Amino acid sequence: MAEAEAQGVDIAIVGGGLVGASLAGALAPLIARHDLRVAVIEAAPMLDAAQAPWQPSFDARASAIAAGSAERFRAMGVWETMVEQAAPIRRIHVSERGRLGATRLAADELGQAALGHVVPNAWMGRVLHRRLTELPLAWHCPATVEAIVPRPSGHRLALSDGSVLAAGLTVLADGGRSALKARLGIASRETPYDQVALIANVAVSRPHDGTAYERFTREGPIALLPLPGQQMALVWTHAAGRERSYLALSDGDFLAALQRAFGDRAGRFRQVGSRHAYPLSLITARETIRPGLAVLGNAAHALHPVAGQGFNLALRGVTDLVETLGEALAAGGAPGALSTLQAFEARRAADRRAVTRFSDGLVRLFGIDNALLSHARAAGLVGLNLAGPLRRGLARRAMGVER
Ligand SMILES: Cc1cc2nc3c(=O)[nH]c(=O)nc-3n(C[C@H](O)[C@H](O)[C@H](O)COP(=O)(O)OP(=O)(O)OC[C@H]3O[C@@H](n4cnc5c(N)ncnc54)[C@H](O)[C@@H]3O)c2cc1C
Repeated sequence: MAEAEAQGVDIAIVGGGLVGASLAGALAPLIARHDLRVAVIEAAPMLDAAQAPWQPSFDARASAIAAGSAERFRAMGVWETMVEQAAPIRRIHVSERGRLGATRLAADELGQAALGHVVPNAWMGRVLHRRLTELPLAWHCPATVEAIVPRPSGHRLALSDGSVLAAGLTVLADGGRSALKARLGIASRETPYDQVALIANVAVSRPHDGTAYERFTREGPIALLPLPGQQMALVWTHAAGRERSYLALSDGDFLAALQRAFGDRAGRFRQVGSRHAYPLSLITARETIRPGLAVLGNAAHALHPVAGQGFNLALRGVTDLVETLGEALAAGGAPGALSTLQAFEARRAADRRAVTRFSDGLVRLFGIDNALLSHARAAGLVGLNLAGPLRRGLARRAMGVER
């Protein structure tokens, strides 16, 4: 049977979640300068169009957005709107249950107004998708990639909406469980943490004053991030399976359990919104580039959220890819050329390795219940209070506000 005629595109982005949508937004200047043909394929309906209450990337979570990420969004022309529903992080408080000492870091110590911002994912999605409707992009949404076949000049993609694309560069931004990566034979290293992150928004009895808390407990870390008003975003890590009993509790019992685990430092927990659970694994793709192919975001690296780094790291990947493509296009090169993608990988590798190691190390350091380590951790936290630059570096990184 003759193959359906394919529509040529320079770049096909598979996944219009946080990372795919950010990449499409960041490509705007190159689209204008080089007349690039860009297609985005997203499986879930767009938030604005469908009034969908939920979309996999833009769900009930909120993300700690580092200053560098805010700058990247500003360059895309979306930060001014994003920040309308964001809360600044003015101070960070890291502590460990049962141990004296806490590490504190305030933005004004560093002469800054904020260490970062917390933005609800659903709002980020809305703002990004609205921006994308202003760009000359081909949106295939809702649609999935049903088949992907490598060709000498890129990939041929067959979509569930009946379209067929011949893409010079295909970017896989289809998330941690990327089915396409597997279909292309790109292996991943997966280390389950045997932990589950339980997320919910909670209302607190007193103003949080922009404080972000990270509290390490025997059962797992608890992060509380400031949201506008007296709301905070909770990420409570549990041993896999234990989250089920917390999901089943009544709101009142859940709040009481949280209060016992977290203490009173943020005031009394008054209300809780819907609760969701995310099983946690470290997943890293063994290959992130091939001729005509780049892997970005969770498809390349799904990290433990303890350090709030995953999306910030991915956004730096978006910037590096766009800059590398800009240089290649200016020199007359093709987006999917292996040399272009190798240049991208050379820029990316060290940051990705360092952040992956840092996040994973933090989970292991604070997750192991061992008397000796426990003392080392406590000494570390107390010691960090004395050692300014180290403490600052750790606290900023631990809350995802570094860079
Ligand atoms: C509890 C929790 C808290 C977190 N907090 C932070 C934080 O504070 N700061 C931070 O930087 N990071 C944080 N992260 C990490 C962050 O959420 C991820 O880095 C981010 O979601 C990755 O986005 P993504 O677009 O790569 O993948 P995803 O969010 O998984 O999006 C993938 C998209 O691809 C679409 N898709 C999938 N398959 C197909 C297909 N075949 N065809 C078309 N479309 C497809 C999906 O519908 C989806 O929209 C957190 C993660 C968790 C679990």
